[in-house]
Amino acid sequence: MKNLGEIKDLNQRLHFFSAINDSAKDAARFSVKDNICVKGFEARAGSKILSGYVPPFDATCVERMAKKGYNFIGKTVMDEFGFGSFGVNTDVQARNPFDEKRVAGGSSSGAAVATAVLKDHIAISESTGGSISNPASFCGVVGFTPTYGTVSRYGLIDYANSLDKIGLMARSSEEIRKAFDIIRGADRYDTTCTENGITDSKKKKLVVIDQLMHGIDDGILASFEALLAKLEGMGYKVERTSLDFIDKAIPAYYIISMAEASTNLAKYTGYKYGRQLDAFTKKYNEFFTEAREVFGMEAKRRIVLGTFVRSASVKERYYTKALKVRALLANKLSELMKDAFVISPTMPIMAPKIDEAAELPPLQAYAMDSLTIPPNLTGLPHVSFPYDYLKGMPVGAQLVTTHFNDYALLDFVGKWEKSFDYKFKYNL
Ligand code: GLN
Repeated sequence: MKNLGEIKDLNQRLHFFSAINDSAKDAARFSVKDNICVKGFEARAGSKILSGYVPPFDATCVERMAKKGYNFIGKTVMDEFGFGSFGVNTDVQARNPFDEKRVAGGSSSGAAVATAVLKDHIAISESTGGSISNPASFCGVVGFTPTYGTVSRYGLIDYANSLDKIGLMARSSEEIRKAFDIIRGADRYDTTCTENGITDSKKKKLVVIDQLMHGIDDGILASFEALLAKLEGMGYKVERTSLDFIDKAIPAYYIISMAEASTNLAKYTGYKYGRQLDAFTKKYNEFFTEAREVFGMEAKRRIVLGTFVRSASVKERYYTKALKVRALLANKLSELMKDAFVISPTMPIMAPKIDEAAELPPLQAYAMDSLTIPPNLTGLPHVSFPYDYLKGMPVGAQLVTTHFNDYALLDFVGKWEKSFDYKFKYNL
């Protein structure tokens, strides 16, 4: 790489890469979120418990990109195992290129920063409850989360298997479409992954759900209304509707995701998985307590809560009910979107300062996912695209459609991009 030195210098300031591939070529570069395996590069998923784990294989999506001639450039930093919305729940905290005191979003913080500072680059990223949309909107890039099951999860370090989706970030919808067609499609190593055809059923109607518009910053609300007016000018029809049940999405999501996370993290005991200790003289409980003490605060919280909600005595009250909420919401949203897209701002706030985000109480932090969780919980494809800059910081809007209609989202963003000027501070 010609400008490797410059990239390394900027990485010292913005902390987006946890590892850089010194031998990457200049053209068609792609980065990979740290919870996705690239042969020969440490994969920590932002966690100390995986320190020193170097996968001996490539994730399916990585292998497919490399086969098409894309050059792997680096692993991108993230919240530990994807637990977070601001990139602060890990030891290396990415900074927003538009204002270094502010967060880049999360959990795919490094992926969004890399996309905002590098040209000819595409980020392979992952979303469980909004980890692609959120940082994409804070960093002014396009973030695409495909329909659940369209991209193989083989080689992904699981957060919550029924919710995890590998997706993409780039500086344009066109680059995303190219890469999506490379990485998607059936894979014998992931039985939930399907060859199902992707459609491009264009909609002329945009639905705004009233309940989603509560609690949004005034500045964002005003600029979002201006966006709707512009879209009307482009021929779209805007309609407002009520879906009172949608506020159950956050509790249902956190119950399901924590239940699954707690089972996924159970294997990191220091025996087969997780950092290895030499303390073989210790008793079983002492041994794995020591091995697991390096989990961050948020991971520990989720292990405790997730184990609780799926325990026999309360399972019906929490876990089973959350599954019902998910199914009901998927039906209601799909019905609403028969002849329309759902549109909203991507985040209810502008990118907060890093120290403020780190101090947010958990429930307040979870509440910031109000707009990104509904499509993620229900496996619906969605895209966040930049539409404005407020006080120098980018803001994004999120468009959602029905299962497998992913191309229609990229088509919409392609039309929007014709009249939108992307701004980037760096272009390495
Ligand atoms: N903020 C959400 C969470 O902490 C979503 C993160 C993600 O998509 N990985 O679970």
